[in-house]
Amino acid sequence: MATKEDFYKILNVDRNASDAEIKKSYRSLAMKHHPDRNADNPAAAEEKFKQIKEAYEILSDSKKRAAYDQFGHAGVDPSMGGGRGAGASDFGDAFSDIFGDMFGKRGGGGQQGGGQRGSDLRYNLEISLEEAVAGTEQKIRIPVLVTCGDCLGSGAKKGSAPVICSMCHGHGQVRMQQGFFTVQQTCPTCRGTGKQIKDPCGKCHGQGRVKDEKTLSAKIPAGVDTGDRIRLSGEGEAGQLGAPSGDLYIEIQVNRHSIFIRDGANLSCEMPISFVTACLGGEIEVPTLGGKALLKIPAETQSGQSFRLRGKGVKQVRGGAVGDLLCKVQIETPVNLTPEQKSLVEKLGESLSSSGKHHSPQESSWLDGLKNFFTN
Ligand SMILES: [Zn+2]
Ligand SMILES: [Zn+2]
Repeated sequence: MATKEDFYKILNVDRNASDAEIKKSYRSLAMKHHPDRNADNPAAAEEKFKQIKEAYEILSDSKKRAAYDQFGHAGVDPSMGGGRGAGASDFGDAFSDIFGDMFGKRGGGGQQGGGQRGSDLRYNLEISLEEAVAGTEQKIRIPVLVTCGDCLGSGAKKGSAPVICSMCHGHGQVRMQQGFFTVQQTCPTCRGTGKQIKDPCGKCHGQGRVKDEKTLSAKIPAGVDTGDRIRLSGEGEAGQLGAPSGDLYIEIQVNRHSIFIRDGANLSCEMPISFVTACLGGEIEVPTLGGKALLKIPAETQSGQSFRLRGKGVKQVRGGAVGDLLCKVQIETPVNLTPEQKSLVEKLGESLSSSGKHHSPQESSWLDGLKNFFTN
């Protein structure tokens, strides 16, 4: 394989260049060497342009760039990655097969932070529907591991200090030969911290962390629903030996409401209405989360009919339109009738059956169905 020119050189940036600097340089170089702009020598321009593009594909991808930094062209050249012959832009799979585990450890702070990053914690928070819809602020107490106050997280007894690990000489990683590659692995002696504690702290037994409880104030945004998670960055367990803390995830559980049932952005409820209102129509007061609202009931309303109050539902936390309130009416049969009222109902009944018109839409279709059922 021909020796390739250094990608940083090709892009004319130094090794610590930021992503923005790399992008900027790539753009101006690509512009300059684009074959369309170099009519006098398009072949040379195309070759240069390809190099620039290849270099940018590697350096603009943090994983590929890290591999290139560590292993040079061997780290990113597909012909070295098991002969799959994939192009530079889509060799990602072959690459992560080999290095995925190693990058996972890097990402977890094993190399930089010393100890292990603290665990993420989950806290189940029950709130009312009103709180979920309007948003709320809640004080929560959570058990945590915090940095030990006696040793300030070092894990070493007061007055002593951890010593450099004798196996990895403080690097936290040891090199192992594996085929073509020199692969780095977490040091088994110090588990990646680079340090050994000869005289452990009495309070935390060398862990650098102790159990504690802390009170947090959690802001719950308006519109959350059951199952939503809110992340409080860095509020999880403290990391080992000064490594970053984990995150705290607050998982929302919205309690059942006495009136409303929530379905995403919509709310629904059931409302009793009188027989008279159902017959003649009228206005009734219905509850909403924002107070009372008036609902027009048309004449001849049937039991179980639903009415929609637009915009009286929930504004969801992920945005979108405010939902509706669906009001399902149940017609109540009057009770405790006086003899006079009973006779009025009787009269109404006689009038309905002798009028020659049909007054019970559901009953007549039900009777038709019944007839079919018996004849079949
Ligand atoms: Zn301690
Ligand atoms: Zn070590």
